[in-house]
Formats: sequence, structure tokens, C-alpha cells
Amino acid sequence: MTQPNRYAIAIHGGAGTLSKGMLTEDQENEVHAALRQAVMAGKQILAQGGTSLDAVEAAVRELENSEWFNAGKGSVYNYDGDHELDASIMDGATLKAGAVAGVRNSPNPVSVARAVMNKSEHVLLAGEGADRFARAMGLPQVENSWFGTPMRHSQWRQAQDKAQPSLEPGAEDYKFGTVGAVAIDQAGNLAAATSTGGMTNKKYGRVGDSPLIGCGAYADNRSCAVSTTGHGEYFIRHVVAHEVCARYRYLGESLQQCAQQVLFEELQPRGGEGGLIAIDHTGAVTLNFNTEGMYRGWSESDGEIFTGIYGDDAVRSNKP
Ligand code: ASP
Repeated sequence: MTQPNRYAIAIHGGAGTLSKGMLTEDQENEVHAALRQAVMAGKQILAQGGTSLDAVEAAVRELENSEWFNAGKGSVYNYDGDHELDASIMDGATLKAGAVAGVRNSPNPVSVARAVMNKSEHVLLAGEGADRFARAMGLPQVENSWFGTPMRHSQWRQAQDKAQPSLEPGAEDYKFGTVGAVAIDQAGNLAAATSTGGMTNKKYGRVGDSPLIGCGAYADNRSCAVSTTGHGEYFIRHVVAHEVCARYRYLGESLQQCAQQVLFEELQPRGGEGGLIAIDHTGAVTLNFNTEGMYRGWSESDGEIFTGIYGDDAVRSNKP
């Protein structure tokens, strides 16, 4: 029998139409470096005996701070040309959770979600109230325009020119850029966190799956920790993160089987595109997607850090 891992972390930076040749070699290297840095941020905490909650928050903050991903700085534009960000975090030991939806001025929404979990009696705060709570907690604030980048602006203009409510998943250049992390710490506690700018050109006020506990993230020490990325409306309808945990707990399937069943048998036939990362209570790790690629990275106690972009990169990828 193999020994359970002492600790493990996995991250994603979104799934989508990521085929080889779309990024230059330099760009690929930059993405790999950003993913690596995020894994490293969480791994250092876990290696020193820190908590999985601290590790997933630290990893997601790194990804939020990178312009490569659709979360924090570099978030997509909504229909009005503004940014509305969603995030969530969950503690598998206590089932405590915190989330924010539609924040407009908080550069690291995952940390606001953590504050909602730790310092309020609520689970989910939305809109101006969430930013107001962040201010009350002494968390930093920025102008809404701070989140934009030239790349996101041109994606938004293209979506507007096509008069689409959102860049259609399945479109040639579609990438979900949501970020997330799952971890198990040396005490055996699981945690999950997810953060996003949502979908390009989304309707004002639209809330996706990422801040909805059970859809964009879920963690339960009795089963697993899951963070998702994909077309949020489908992930909400299928309650994806909790569905993976429930399969694991009640059906006794392996973690990978649970992930693949949900992605390929439930979501895909109905048009739901995306991916997820998960770690179970024994420390098994899986990273799966029904799209061409998913920005991803992971590491276990043995010390190595892996990162991937395309379907055939490394292991723990794709396809049933
Ligand atoms: N799931 C996110 C949303 O629908 C998008 C993504 O994963 O990139 O808001």
C-alpha cells in the first residue's frame, strides 16, 4: 500500500481552446513561470507545516496578481466595460466557507472571501457591500479601471463587435482564465479556493459559478477539495465541485473517476466546457478538463513542481 502524501497542492489558471502555436515560446515560458510561482507560494507554506487554507490563498493571490489570468489584475471586461470579480474559499476541516461576488475595487478577491469566512457571520457578500466589507477589514482598494489590460480590452471589443453576450466557449480563441487552488496540509486538512473576473462581456451583475460554494469550489475532509473553471452557467446547474465530492464520498469511485464522470459524462454531452482540479483526503491529486488545454500546476511532498498548458503536457491531464 502506498503511503499517503504528507502534503500536496494543485492549481489552475483556466481551461479553454489552448492549442499549441497560439502562444509564442516566450509567452509559454512566461505562463509556466507564473504557474510555477503560484505552486511555489503554496508549497512553501505546506512544507513548513502551514495550513492548506493559507496555501490556497497564497497560490490564488499569486495568480490574481499575474496579468496572464482572468482574476484580480487582468480580469475580463463586462458588458459595460467594467470589471466585476468573484471569489470563494472553503475549509475542509470545518466546512466553513467565504465568498464574494461582483466586487469592483478589491485587487485580491480571494482574501476578501477569506475575511468573509473568518470575520463575518456570513458566507457570501455581493457587490458594493463586499467592497465595503473589504474596506472595513482594512484590505486594499483600487480603481475599477486598474484591473484592465490591453489584451483584455481587445478581447472585449471583439466580443462586442460580434454582438455576443459573451465570447462563446468553443470559439477558436476562447480561454477561461479563472484561477484556483486545492491543497492538503501535513495535518491532513483540505482547502479549496477559486477567483475570477467571470466571462468577457458578461451582463452587468452576472454572477458565475466561482463564488458559489459547491459549484466553483468545495472542500470536505471526508472526501476531497475541488476548484473548477469553465462555462459557469453549466457549472452552476451541475453543482460541479460538490458533485465530485459527493460521488467520491457515496460511490467510492477514485478521485480521477469522479472528476472524469462529471466532466465527460455529465457536462460535456450538455455543452458544458471546462476543467477542475481536486485533491482527496489521502493526498491523491487529479487535474482534468474536457477542453483542449488547461493552465495548471501541482506538487507533492516529493519536491518536484509540474506545470502544464496543453492536453498532452505531462500527466494528470485530460480524457477518460
Ligand atoms: N467559471 C468562470 C465563470 O463562469 C469562468 C472561468 O472559469 O474562466 O465565471
